[in-house]
Parts: sequence; structure tokens; C-alpha cells
Amino acid sequence: MPQEIQCACLECGLLQRIPPLPPGGSALCVRCGNVLQRHRPRSLSRTLALTIAGILLFIIANSFPFLSFEMQGQTTHTTLITGVIDLYLGGNWPVAAVVLFTSILAPGLQLMLLLIILVPLALERVPHWLPRLFRWVRTLAPWGMMDVFMLGILVAAVKLSAMATLVPGASLFAFAVLILVLAAAQAALDPDLVWLRVPLSRSDWIAPRPGEPAVSCDVCALVVRAPAAPPVRPRCPRCGDRLHARKPESLQRTWALLIAAIICYVPANLLPIMTVTSIGRSQSDTIMSGVVFMVHHDMWPLALVIFVASIFVPLLKLAILLLLLLSVQLRSSWRPRERTRLYRITEAIGRWSMVDVYVVTLLVALVRLGNLASVQPELGVVFFCAVVILTMLAAMSFDPRLIWDVLEHADVGERERAPAPNPSGSVRA
Ligand SMILES: [Zn+2]
Ligand SMILES: [Zn+2]
Repeated sequence: MPQEIQCACLECGLLQRIPPLPPGGSALCVRCGNVLQRHRPRSLSRTLALTIAGILLFIIANSFPFLSFEMQGQTTHTTLITGVIDLYLGGNWPVAAVVLFTSILAPGLQLMLLLIILVPLALERVPHWLPRLFRWVRTLAPWGMMDVFMLGILVAAVKLSAMATLVPGASLFAFAVLILVLAAAQAALDPDLVWLRVPLSRSDWIAPRPGEPAVSCDVCALVVRAPAAPPVRPRCPRCGDRLHARKPESLQRTWALLIAAIICYVPANLLPIMTVTSIGRSQSDTIMSGVVFMVHHDMWPLALVIFVASIFVPLLKLAILLLLLLSVQLRSSWRPRERTRLYRITEAIGRWSMVDVYVVTLLVALVRLGNLASVQPELGVVFFCAVVILTMLAAMSFDPRLIWDVLEHADVGERERAPAPNPSGSVRA
């Protein structure tokens, strides 16, 4: 049933009303251009179908080897989990944990949670635990990196093709289709439809009158009246998440994570990330020397992929986060729309830097023929992995609404601030 909904833009904080959208239409924030809502036809049933397909593909992808490595009559097989196990056995447990979480646990959990949530909804039921689990779907989304892992497989395969014969396994195809299915499921899911089904009990909190102070939930986007005498830490009446006008201690946390990332960036680039032993000879490579090696061996496209993902993207992310933090700290009113767009870019590109970590994992798992050929991970990859995770966390803890706060009320503190009156979001069909 179409109805007008009230929502605050999560990127600039402006409170707006969204009229019912035409099929395929989307509502953009009038101030920063962020997509507030998108109409997705038959969203929940399509997402459920894709989720079931995804779970079947996930089981196949994890049950069989996806690549075999043949060299001088010896063969090694690799499943998704063997790379993780090899890293763990080699004492590299931090990287093993990150790879396990991002390539297996996060996507698997996300699919299971979607199934558990969408089946009752299809049966017109809303169990009391549904909002809490649905919150987790959103939390896990940025950490599932199967698409990046797939790029890692391609890079590793090209690297090894000169050295030995690679045979793709059955699960590689399941894996490739799974990535498409996961992307389609994410595109089909309209979270607002799920949240609209959750009944609201504490009605005294809801529906602020125009001009009244309001806060919007960061998770389900419900707009509620800011309580006059707030409980110590109020929770959203719909999804149960903590309510706050802005992410708590956003600047301090982002600074701390960014500085940690900058510190890790130095050893990540100076220390070797892996040592390759081939026919008794060992050679250690840093990220940059790996790129130079590929350029010398006419592997230009590969060198470009690794250069962009491992050197250019992390640097760009560090620079953008630094710029955003400084501009907010200096209360700059310079181009807020463009700065918000920069923030959006940072959130979107950060995960692709994981590709080199996956390449090392895959090489370690595939090339296990002792003195004939083997790959050992080195300390550099641990620091590099830390840079990627820290910059992702820094981007998550930064609150882009702080960019806009300066423009609205130059003298009001960052918390407990009322969003502006309600204009209508612009609707695009
Ligand atoms: Zn906005
Ligand atoms: Zn909520």
C-alpha cells in the first residue's frame, strides 16, 4: 500500500517527505543528491528467490575445489577454506581471520539471515526477533567481499599461468554465478518494505510535528520526536538500535582509525608481502616490486589492477578522509555536496584494496610443492590488511552529516540538533 513516508537523509541529515514512488522511480535528497528511496518491483519475493539460489550456490562453491595447480606431475587442489587453513597453520592468523570472515562467514551469514527474515514475511508474519536480525544484514553487507575475492582468483590465475597449468574446478563456476546472484539480491532488496512491516508499539515517540526536535534512526530511518527528557541512551522503537542525532564521537574515532591506518601504511609498503620459492630460488616481493615485476614481464593489465587496488585506492582513501576530517574540524563551508560525494566514493571503493590480500592467500594455498615451488606470506601483508580494514572502519565511523551541520547552525553543538522543516524529496521516475 503506497504511503508518504518521512525520512531524514543519512548523508546530510535533512528531514524530508517522500511521496509514493512510481514503478522503478527513486527519490533523491534535495540537498545532497543521496538516494533516499528506490522503488523495486516485487522486492521481497525476488530477494527471497535469489537468496535461496544463493544458498545452494554457496554450498556448492564451498564443497568442491575451485582451482587445481599442476606442475611437473604434482597437483594441489584449493577450496575456499584451504587458503584460510594454510594461512592459519603458517602462523598468519590475523590475515586468516580476515579472509575467513570476508570471503566465507559474512556472505554466508548474510544469506542465512535473509532467508530467516524473508520466509516469515512471505507468510505475512513478523516475529519479534526480526528487526534485530535485519539490523545484522545491514551491518554485514560491506564486509562480504566475494566479488573482490573473484578478482583475486583472476589475478592469481594469470600470475601462475606462466609457471604451471591451472585447471578450474566445478565450484569456480558456482562461485562466479553466486557473485551475480548476491549482487542481484542486494539490488532487489528494499529495506524500507521490511521496516514498514514492523509494528510500532511506543506511539508516543513517533511523528514529530513540524519544527519539533527530531532524531532519525541510522539503521531503519524511522523519524521520531526527540524525547524531552531523554533516557540515558534511547533506542529506536522499531529496530532497537541506539538513537543519536549524529554518530557518537565520530570525529575522535575517525581520527584515531585514520592515524592508525597511516602508521600501518608505511610497513605495508616497505615490508615484503610474500616470498616465492621456485626451483630452489627464493624471492621476496613488496607490493610495489610486485607491480614492477609484472610490468617487466609484459603483464600490463595485471600490473594496473594491482597498482590501482593496492597503491592508488588506499592512498586516495587516506587523502579523502584526511580532507573530510580537516574540513569539518575547521568548520569549512567549502562545497558540501562535493565533499559528501567524496565520502560516498570512499565508502564504495575501499573494499577493492583487499584484492592483494586474497591473491597472497590463493598463491599460498595453490603453490605448495616444497622446494619445487612454494609461496610464503610475509609480514607486509598483515600491515596491508590492517590498512584496508582500518580505512573501512574510519569511513564507517565518519558522519557525513557533520559536513552540513556547519552550514545550518554555525553555533549549535553537533548533538541534539533539530533537522530543518520538511521539504519534499525530489522524485525521479
Ligand atoms: Zn541529503
Ligand atoms: Zn531504527
